[in-house]
Amino acid sequence: MTPREERLAENEILFRQVNERIVELTDRWGGNLDLVCECANDQCTSRIELKLDEYERIRQNPRLFALLPGHEIPGIEDVVERTERYVVVEKHAETRDLVESADPRS
Ligand SMILES: [Zn+2]
Repeated sequence: MTPREERLAENEILFRQVNERIVELTDRWGGNLDLVCECANDQCTSRIELKLDEYERIRQNPRLFALLPGHEIPGIEDVVERTERYVVVEKHAETRDLVESADPRS
């Protein structure tokens, strides 16, 4: 894992932690979740909208992150799902240990 890969993964981990807090504070019975983009760019302030079941499905796997379409970085992650509202990326092997050890659900 290069320092760059580590830094980018740390950004995604941070955004994921923010989203976990948003979900905790959101009325789980009402509508869609208004989340932050979990991309590697620490300057990104984009929002993404997910249904709770979509979010929960992504969160089952600590290697997956939800991004705004176009925010994925091909060198560090693979797109495994693409919709009009969001894409789901899976982190490459080099950073798997890092993102798995920072799993907010474990
Ligand atoms: Zn983004």
